Formats: sequence, structure tokens, C-alpha cells
Amino acid sequence: MTPAFPAEAPPAAWPISASPADRAYLLNDENAETYRQTLAEGVARVAARLARTDRPFTGITPERLAPVIDGIDLDRPLEDATAALDELERVYLRDAVYFHHPRYLAHLNCPVVIPAVVGEAVLSAVNSSLDTWDQSAGGTLIERRLIDWTAGRIGFGKAADGIFTSGGSQSNLQALLLARDEACRMVRKNSPTALRTPEILPRLRILASECGHFSVQKSATLLGLGAEAVITVECDENRRMRPQALERELRRLRDEDLVPMAVVATAGTTDFGSIDPLPAVAALCERFGTWFHVDAAYGCGLLVSRRRALLEGIERADSVTVDYHKSFFQPVSSSALIVADHTTLRHVTYHADYLNPKRMAEQRIPNQVDKSLQTTRRFDALKLWLTLRIMGAEAVGRLFDEVVDRAGQGYELLRRDGRFEVVTEPTLSTLVFRYLPARGGDPALTDRVNLHAREALMASGLAVVAGTKVNGRQYLKFTLLNPQTTPDDIAEVLDLIAGHAERFLSERAA
Ligand SMILES: *Cc1c(COP(=O)(O)O)cnc(C)c1O
Repeated sequence: MTPAFPAEAPPAAWPISASPADRAYLLNDENAETYRQTLAEGVARVAARLARTDRPFTGITPERLAPVIDGIDLDRPLEDATAALDELERVYLRDAVYFHHPRYLAHLNCPVVIPAVVGEAVLSAVNSSLDTWDQSAGGTLIERRLIDWTAGRIGFGKAADGIFTSGGSQSNLQALLLARDEACRMVRKNSPTALRTPEILPRLRILASECGHFSVQKSATLLGLGAEAVITVECDENRRMRPQALERELRRLRDEDLVPMAVVATAGTTDFGSIDPLPAVAALCERFGTWFHVDAAYGCGLLVSRRRALLEGIERADSVTVDYHKSFFQPVSSSALIVADHTTLRHVTYHADYLNPKRMAEQRIPNQVDKSLQTTRRFDALKLWLTLRIMGAEAVGRLFDEVVDRAGQGYELLRRDGRFEVVTEPTLSTLVFRYLPARGGDPALTDRVNLHAREALMASGLAVVAGTKVNGRQYLKFTLLNPQTTPDDIAEVLDLIAGHAERFLSERAA
């Protein structure tokens, strides 16, 4: 075909829009020195800040910090890394909450290990995307090795597989998506009439303990089942799911012609660190033909610890959530969903001509997007890889064992201290307790005293502790994930709490 119009002659010089200064920001072979220097400067700031922190927090309030951040004109760049890092001191580094500090005892945040931080620097600079081989090459294989390694630690067989995710919430969501689609498939297979998915969904139920994570309810909503599809199973006094209660619910569902789509057992509940009786739950799931998911977002550190036996029964699960960014000392994000049977991952497989055409599978080109809810995806696995290659799994396990030991010591301190009441002996590394006013009495006052003590402590920045409710009453919580926290740190924080509580009570009396 001849073109309708003759091609125009190209312009003598193509217009250039990006200046040499703009190009100097690109990370490439020409700017390697700028990269090295700028990164070193950023690292130096963090190192200096870490050396200077004498408390986990400055106690800054949103009211005081918001104007500082709002006052920055984002349309006026500083065009200078040093100046921007100076500014970052004011807007972030100075007042950040520091998890490496031994008196940060609040949430499930760990201090991070240096090998993983090196991994973070490498993965963001190379910027592989783990959806397809042609965007990651070796990254895909490294992630696969780590999935296989984790599956091996769980005790899964050769058919296992999995995927790195952004966190436990996403891992749980994906597990329940696979469980939902497997349940639909089974219902369809066993039904005399052809049922469509919308007819099956309202009959599906998920069973989880009352101490399970809220991402289970959120997932049920996202999966079109509604949060009401989650049935809470009663716990014993140690916050472990009661197998008899689970069995009762499973029978009831069967009698009502409802479908128990999945049972979620928690290996390390967020508040109590309690571990549901995995062998008993596994046996019930096998008997009732129900998907068995273990949420080990917190307890996964046991996979490398001398307390591995606490996870007995996990190898009978259909899927397991692990958060390396909790008990493997990895920077956020680093999590995975591991499944016992790789074929179940097909429920998240979709093909796009531009990305992962079926031909790729035929050519046996490894491809992770077929197993993931995400498309473009960080190479978070690299952090764990360098952690295992530099320090090794046993060292990670020893660090985790240290915090579990510390929780045991903290429990003894609390138990012997008349000022406090502690709820249960810890299995992992959390302690739920409250200050009890000497004269006892009014439960509402006890709630207020504990709330006040937590807030006053936070405002002082000397320590950060968490709060939670038990039977509707206000409690305080330590989540220990820092092997540098000593029994003396715990004792000091208890004194600080008691001090705030006592001042509150005496001011009130005055
Ligand atoms: C933290 C936690 C989650 C959620 O994980 P994220 O990484 O915060 O999304 C899920 N389940 C349990 C038991 C957890 O402790």
C-alpha cells in the first residue's frame, strides 16, 4: 500500500524537553556516583538519628506536626538532597516512632535486621517487578525458592506453592478467596442441579475464633459474603479456640444446609499470642471437608525457633499466612501465603495478551502473576533471602526465642506485682494486663486510669504501649518483639504506668 501522503522530513533537531539537570536524577550508569553519595547521605541521617534516640517517641501530637507538613510547598522542589534531608528531619525523622528502641512495646512491629535493610536498598534500586519472568528473571526464582523453603518449614509436601504478599491481611484475603472458589466448586460437583456462583455465595460461612484477626471479616466482605458470614467460635480461658465449640458450629451449619467454606485457626492471636489447637482443628476440617487456613502472621517465627513444636498440626493446613515483617525481623512489607496444593492458586490466574499469554505457560517460563492478587509487585523476597544468606534462619529463631523468653519473665514480674493484674500466661510475646487501683472498686474508674496511663506515657514518649479490651474492660498490652528489651526495661515501664495512674487518682481525689 502506498501512503496517502508522503512522509514529512524529520526535523533537523528533535526538541529536547528534559534538561541535563533533570537527567541527573535518573539512576543509571552515568549517575552511579550521585546514587552512591545521595544514598549514603540518607543512610547517615538515619544512623545519626538512631544513635541519638533516647526514647521511642517524642510525644508529638498531630496538631503540632500537621502544620509543619502542610506548610511544605510540594510544587517548589528544593533541588538539593541535603536540603530535603534537613527538612525530612523536621517533618519525619525527628518525631517518628522508633521500633528499635527497647521501650517500644506497643504493636506487632519488630526492629529490623541489617541484612534485610540491605535487601531493601538493592530491590528498590534494581526495581524488579515480580509479576513475570521478563520483568525479574532471577527474582522470580529466588522468590520461588523462599516459598519452597517456607513450605518445607511448615511441613507441606511437594505439591505446595505460594506467593509473597503485602501483608497478613492480603494473605488472609487470598487464602479465603481460594477457599471460597474451592467451596463453590465442591458444591457444584455435589449438587444435582446446576448452581450458579451467586446462588452458592449466600450459603458460605467462615469459622474463626473470637480472638481471630479482623482481616477475616474484612475479607468476607470483599469476597461478596458479608462480614456476617464469619461465625465466631468460642475460646477457652487461654484464648484458644474450643474444638468442641467448633464441632458444634460445623454440625449446625450442616444441619442448616449451609457450607463451612473455611476454618481460620490463628497461630499467635494479635492480642494474646495464643495458638489455636491446630491438630484438633485440622481433624475437624478433614472430617467436615472444610478448607483449613492457619493465620500465622504473628506466630510464623516459631518455624525457625526452638519452640517449633507449638505449631504442630500446621502441616495439615490447606493454606498458611506468614508475616516475615512481624517475627522474622523484616522491614514492611514482607508476607506470604503458602498453600498445600499449588493447583488451588489457579483461582487467581487470568491471562493478558500483553503480560502472561498462555504460550508462556506452555513454554514453562516461570511466572508469578498467575498466583497473585497483585500485578506489579515488589521483590520483597530479596530481604528474606539476604537474611537467610547472611545471618541464617537459626539466628532469626534465636532472636524470636529471646522475646518469647522475655515475655515469660515479664509475666512473672506482673504476677508478683500487686499493682497489676495480668490476664494469661503468654505463649508468644504479648502480655495483657491492667493497673488496679489500691482501693479497688469502680470498674469504670479502673478503665479511665488505664486509658490515662497509656496516653500519658505516649505523650511523654518514654515508652509506647498498646491498649485493648478484655470482656469490655480497658487493658494495657505489651507486644515484645525486640530482643534488646530487658526485664529492667519492662520493670521501668511498669513503674512509669503506675506513676501516671497514681497521679491521676490523687489529682482526682484532691
Ligand atoms: C498482624 C496480623 C494480621 C494482619 O497482617 P498485616 O501484615 O498487618 O496486614 C493478620 N492476622 C494476625 C493474627 C495478625 O497478627
